[in-house]
Amino acid sequence: MIPLARPLLGHEERAAVERVLASGMLAQGPEVAAFEEEFSAFVEHRHCVATSSGTAALHLVLLATGIGHGDEVIVPSFSFAASANAVRLCGAIPVFADIEPEHFCLDPDLVEAAITSRTAAIMPVHLYGHPAAMAALAAIADRHGLLLVEDAAQAHGARLGGRPVGALGDCAAFSFYPTKNMTTGEGGIIVTGDDQVARTARLLRNQGMERRYHHEIVGCNARMTDLAAAIGRVQLRRLQGWNAARRTHAERYDTSLHGVVTPPVADGVEHAYHQYTVRSPDRDALRAKLQARGIGTGVYYPVPIHRQPPFATRADLPETDRAAMQVCSLPIRPDLLPHELDAVVQAVNRP
Ligand SMILES: *Cc1c(COP(=O)(O)O)cnc(C)c1O
Repeated sequence: MIPLARPLLGHEERAAVERVLASGMLAQGPEVAAFEEEFSAFVEHRHCVATSSGTAALHLVLLATGIGHGDEVIVPSFSFAASANAVRLCGAIPVFADIEPEHFCLDPDLVEAAITSRTAAIMPVHLYGHPAAMAALAAIADRHGLLLVEDAAQAHGARLGGRPVGALGDCAAFSFYPTKNMTTGEGGIIVTGDDQVARTARLLRNQGMERRYHHEIVGCNARMTDLAAAIGRVQLRRLQGWNAARRTHAERYDTSLHGVVTPPVADGVEHAYHQYTVRSPDRDALRAKLQARGIGTGVYYPVPIHRQPPFATRADLPETDRAAMQVCSLPIRPDLLPHELDAVVQAVNRP
């Protein structure tokens, strides 16, 4: 079996966990502080606030910027439900805009058409590790005075015009779930250039307190553990090499696959290839063909968010619906062996 994804954990991660266990301090502590500092260097030295999950990072960053009841946030429906859940958990309303078909990310023209007097923010998702059209989205956000929040959960290390995702909007959230390009087990991180948003996010993460037992605001417990952060510090060091391997695998697929639409890369983009996602008009047959040869595939996402019961709307999103029927993700994990890549190529190209 060639699995679609698996976390890469080695002796360095093991040693990092041992170090924390030996210290006896398991909750948020010095490892989290060091991880935040190291991640900050990776996103143009913005403030970083580590959290218990990517969803918590999205939720708290929206709360910290003041998004709340009655506000509308424009999000893609072709994403993981966390993108819309975070908006709703703040009491705000997700407004779904359709994607552009090449890169599966928000279509800026349709975002602009979805703006109302209640719109407070635009939340692009860098789906599969390909940055959204951030220059156009930033221009729209500027023109209308809207916040631009990146859901960067799938795009650690992706770049646009030489700049890293996470530093392209007003703020961003990453996830470190085990299937992402780097993991901490469960975990996430908030990135922002705004001192006040960073401070509020820190308060929200920890029961509204900076000084112990002095509660300034209402908060929750969304802290990352030192065990998780110690793993994350190792993974962050390994990320660049892993992403380079993903890109090498993608080049092979780009030049070798037939009978499917391979994913184009926009100008100025360095793709993080969280997923290598092809389109096929007969996606289910393609999956069955690969499954029969022991090759794992994935569909992200078979049911768009606007067709899920809690978010059901009559929004007309034809590109989202089409993508949900056609997409198929192939194995692109960094540790794929040459003969495994050959096997995937041969299986896809088989009539
Ligand atoms: C994984 C993911 C999240 C949520 O991250 P968790 O760490 O699982 O909470 C949010 N948005 C997108 C697009 C994701 O892929």
